[in-house]
Amino acid sequence: MSCPCEGRRGAVDFTETPVAELYGSNCFSNAVMRERLPKNIYKEIVAVQNGEKELTLEVAEVVAASMREWAVAKGASHYTHLFQPLTGLTAEKHDSFIAPTGDGKVLMEFSGKELIKGEPDASSFPSGGLRATFEARGYTAWDVTSPAFLKTDPTGTTLCIPTAFISYYGQALDKKVPLLKSIDALSKQAVRVLRALGNTTTKRVFTTVGPEQEYFLISKALYDKRPDLILTGRTVFGALPAKGQEMEDHYFGAIKDKVAAFMRDLNTELWKVGIPAKTQHNEVAPNQFEIAPIYQNSSAAVDGNQFVMETIRNVARRHGLEGLLHEKPFAGVNGSGKHNNWSMATDDGVNLFEPGENPESNARFLLFAAAVVEAVDRYALLIRASVATSGNDHRLGANEAPPAIVSVFFGGPLTEIFENIAEGKAAGHTDSSEKIKLGVTSLPSLPKDVSDRNRTSPFAFTGNKFEFRMVGSSQSIATPNTYLNVAVAQVLSEFADKLEKAGSKHEAVQNIIKESYAKHRRVVFNGNGYTDEWEREAERRGLPNVKHAVDALQVLVRSETIALFEAHKVLSKEEMESRYHIYLEKYSKQINIEAGVTLDLARRYIFPAVSTYAADLAREASVLAAIHATSAPQEKRAKRIADLAAELYDETGKLEAALAEAQAVEEAYGQAKAYLEKVRPAMEAIRVRADALEKLVSKEAWPLPGYEELLFTL
Ligand code: ADP
Ligand code: MG
Repeated sequence: MSCPCEGRRGAVDFTETPVAELYGSNCFSNAVMRERLPKNIYKEIVAVQNGEKELTLEVAEVVAASMREWAVAKGASHYTHLFQPLTGLTAEKHDSFIAPTGDGKVLMEFSGKELIKGEPDASSFPSGGLRATFEARGYTAWDVTSPAFLKTDPTGTTLCIPTAFISYYGQALDKKVPLLKSIDALSKQAVRVLRALGNTTTKRVFTTVGPEQEYFLISKALYDKRPDLILTGRTVFGALPAKGQEMEDHYFGAIKDKVAAFMRDLNTELWKVGIPAKTQHNEVAPNQFEIAPIYQNSSAAVDGNQFVMETIRNVARRHGLEGLLHEKPFAGVNGSGKHNNWSMATDDGVNLFEPGENPESNARFLLFAAAVVEAVDRYALLIRASVATSGNDHRLGANEAPPAIVSVFFGGPLTEIFENIAEGKAAGHTDSSEKIKLGVTSLPSLPKDVSDRNRTSPFAFTGNKFEFRMVGSSQSIATPNTYLNVAVAQVLSEFADKLEKAGSKHEAVQNIIKESYAKHRRVVFNGNGYTDEWEREAERRGLPNVKHAVDALQVLVRSETIALFEAHKVLSKEEMESRYHIYLEKYSKQINIEAGVTLDLARRYIFPAVSTYAADLAREASVLAAIHATSAPQEKRAKRIADLAAELYDETGKLEAALAEAQAVEEAYGQAKAYLEKVRPAMEAIRVRADALEKLVSKEAWPLPGYEELLFTL
């Protein structure tokens, strides 16, 4: 092992450094700011975080000085503005703190201006036409709702400042700006509803997010022998081994030592920067794992999840492993997703999806839950579009992931309550003896332990939060949360309109829930979402079932979608259109690379190997035939292999033609469609032959590590 940081960052001894001491030690958190900043400045920062004030340069100067002092004392030499361009990755440009003093020495400098605003030379990030090349400037601006932190890698220690990325003309060039705007929009409408319900104290509503991240770990040495994994994140070839995941013996099984050491190291790295990683376990597929941090405000959670993904890969390498974040690294084996646990909380600490203890909180809970049901039904296409990537196409609708149909799980008791309200019945769910008064109608006490144990629902209410399970494992969670916030904001705005006009609030609440649920209950489904019956039933209910990302993305440029985003000031028409194009292009590029790798592996690895093997077999067969004066089984086998190899070769020609055809299409949608409908099937045709060949030739002759090694050795 030659990692330069080896040893220096070996396993931490928690008896020497207790976790509580380690936790957040590299995070410029509110706790650190409270300690280090003058009282009035800290107060200003909290007000800015709460959206009550704008950050002034004077305040920024003080914070910057304190941040620099803190960071330099901890060994930092550089700072960087972290941002999330539309590639979905995290981008960073490092600047050093040093400023020459003219006498051969340097000072460590970092100004308020440098904290608030950076100007990365970011002209090569996708903008979907928003920036002409002559005006390629983009700015990054500090996002005060997500804490700065220190990152150590072989380049040294860097102060990382989470930022938003905007063009010279103020257009969003990243995933953060619309997220922050969607949080504002949702807060505004939620506060209106709360006011109408008689709340006088809440000033702001936050969204909270806890992303559960799934990933695979494989041996780094094997990974290095798979160009497809290196270049595309997934295997484009690979026959299923005799044992797959059917035994389910990996799920929650004992964690192997090598993996345990990795997890310990991963937790340490995450804890240091204040990411509250809490649970970890084996997943369903062999060598598949999950890590879940405790939820945070969504801006911090989005940045945190980007860091979690990056850290999984970095820490894995230190342990001779490779972390795979792709949605479907192995065909025929469970893919990886990311459960986006989402809730809304007030600045005075109330979770709006916490079923209540009294009539008021019951009414509030039911109203906000009804808003989510309505939003998911009305904006199902938008929610589907938020997870539309080429990687996720391998997962959604396949047998282990939520289907491409967006539905809501509520559980029996809660569904019964809503059904009863919709039917105008007073009683709640049958198995409750207690009835609580809610305005004019009596309702039962709400069930406490609602959770979706079958886990097939794409959007499940799980007790005090909603769990959106369609998100892909490698995706940034910024976009799913942005679209979700906007959809719910719209429904809440309509609820608020009605409530503000109503005479009797109690009656209005009842009526709104009744009307809304009666109209949107079709989206509620508590059964097994993986069955064919559900697909047919969903069709009867008129629920959309968009199987492919290319088609799912269409909704982004519909006039009603653009109107929705413009009404809530989250994205403009130009911004929506540019995003749509970028997503389509990304989809096409991804498949283009996969097709290139498929061709390369088929022609330069597999074909030569199997041809040689078939020829050797044939020679062996003729020798044996001469000895025994009868044809040997090797002859048949050689012929079968040679035939398949010929087919494989033919299919590479077809893929090449399909690829040329797709590459020639200029319009983005048509091109993505060509990749989906022409290139993917051509790749699949090659794969079928290659996987059959893998089962026929000897292990030694096969040029790539197989699934049995990738999945069952660690
Ligand atoms: P599961 O049964 O899915 O493993 P957990 O209770 O472990 O459920 O929670 C999964 C994730 O949901 C965790 O990241 C947790 O912090 C998060 N979570 C819990 N409550 C909330 C909430 N109010 N808002 C957002 N996320 C939450
Ligand atoms: Mg979960």
